[in-house]
Amino acid sequence: MMREYGRAHDFRLPRLCCFVENVPMSQSLSVADPPHGTPTLMQEVALRTPGNSRLEMCIQCGTCGGSCPSASAMDHTPRAIFAMLRAGMREEVLRSNTPWMCVSCYYCTVRCPQQIHITDVMYTLKNMALEAGIVPDRTASDFSQIFIRYVKSFGRSFEIGLAGIQNLVHPRLARRLPAMLPVAVGMLLKRGMSPLPPRRIRGLADLRKIIQHAKELEAA
Ligand code: SF4
Ligand code: SF4
Repeated sequence: MMREYGRAHDFRLPRLCCFVENVPMSQSLSVADPPHGTPTLMQEVALRTPGNSRLEMCIQCGTCGGSCPSASAMDHTPRAIFAMLRAGMREEVLRSNTPWMCVSCYYCTVRCPQQIHITDVMYTLKNMALEAGIVPDRTASDFSQIFIRYVKSFGRSFEIGLAGIQNLVHPRLARRLPAMLPVAVGMLLKRGMSPLPPRRIRGLADLRKIIQHAKELEAA
């Protein structure tokens, strides 16, 4: 699937035409425009992404996919996802595992020649997929939610608990535990990580207020 969208003749040509003909991008690339007045899928994603994502400025150069350490595990590269957004392929985008394979390293974001906030867009797509109830595989979303629960409870992450619960919820992951044992032992012995739950941070109440406020802003 990833290869299919990686071909040079897919959605790239209309994107580049706007430079050749000096046509404003919003006019030249309306591949799947909905009825007048309704935001396109791309506009909807841009609106839901905090700040100015610059999403509509993508020139399909592929730098993001070429830079991404997770690209080989993704159904589609970030570049392909943006082409699919432009084409209005809502279900295909939300079913793609791409946002869930994103590890938020921001490498694509710092390398994008158009300064598009790619990592932030990946978070928007995760939220949209959760809302639509079409998350392709709950492994990553469950991991995120367990992580958030620890942050809300203690004000910080608790890696040992996170790994333990994740393996209980997804037993198939436990097959990899023997291979991960040396890493876990190294974290405990060399990095001084405690196997016990962490102490709550000072100002936890304030942190919870910040999280709550962020949720309210997101829902507004
Ligand atoms: S690096 Fe930026 S401009 Fe290039 S394809 Fe990715 S998002 Fe688009
Ligand atoms: S932030 Fe996500 S999409 Fe971008 S390079 Fe890192 S893993 Fe890939």
